[in-house]
Amino acid sequence: ELQRLFPRVPLKGIEKVRHIVAVASGKGGVGKTTVAVNLALAFSRNGLRTGLLDADVYGPSVPLMLALPESLEEEAGMILPREKFGLRVVSLGMTAGETDAFIWRGPLVSKMIRHLLERVQWGELDYLVIDLPPGTGDPSITVAQAIPQASILMVTTPQEVSLIDVRRSVTLFQKHRLRIAGLVENMSYFRCGHSSQPIEIFGHGGGEKLSRETGLPLLGAIPFDLELGRGGDNGVPLLVSAPDSETSRVFLQVAREL
Ligand code: ADP
Repeated sequence: ELQRLFPRVPLKGIEKVRHIVAVASGKGGVGKTTVAVNLALAFSRNGLRTGLLDADVYGPSVPLMLALPESLEEEAGMILPREKFGLRVVSLGMTAGETDAFIWRGPLVSKMIRHLLERVQWGELDYLVIDLPPGTGDPSITVAQAIPQASILMVTTPQEVSLIDVRRSVTLFQKHRLRIAGLVENMSYFRCGHSSQPIEIFGHGGGEKLSRETGLPLLGAIPFDLELGRGGDNGVPLLVSAPDSETSRVFLQVAREL
């Protein structure tokens, strides 16, 4: 039904975008937005022109994570992305003036995303990173379907509760013939300052197990890193404040594999 309503036609605004990576998760709170923001910065640091679209209908948090104003500017009928740390950024949290909350339901979500892809002056980009809504509900599928050329990166923690939902998401995305590029395990381990031995707070091997089960590559394991978390709260992400740290290097490596 949705495919009939929204046929897979190429979108004009993103004609000059070479690759689209959509970051998804099975549930909320696993670090999906943190990964999307730092991954976008990793692409940029690897010398690629990069955009970031925050399409999390439940609570767009990119404006907070990048300390951006919650509004957009227009020029000659086109929406201008906000420039920050070398990224071109648009968030649903910046579109309050354009829409009302009621619009984030069903097919209207899809329409709004396509509107943002068409009417935003993204310009030439090597990568556009999209922060999808979490979960296995309609919004994540609807948003992903609005951008069928995207490849999806699934974020999970090592815990079974997260893995169960990611399995469900993988099945659902595959059922809708969306391409999944791979998995990233977040909060994999914690390196305490007093010991070189990593502590696996949420257990061991969750991402690897999921990778074996689904046949999807595990592209990286991101540690639980207090600075990574703080960077999300104070608007200066880790890839900007400490681009050479162990955690940042994981993001740079994942970016090279996508
Ligand atoms: P989601 O988008 O999945 O809801 P967020 O990216 O908003 O998750 O992350 C949830 C919280 O966890 C945020 O406060 C964030 O700073 C923190 N966080 C995410 N990943 C890490 C990590 N690897 N180490 C430390 N804190 C993290």
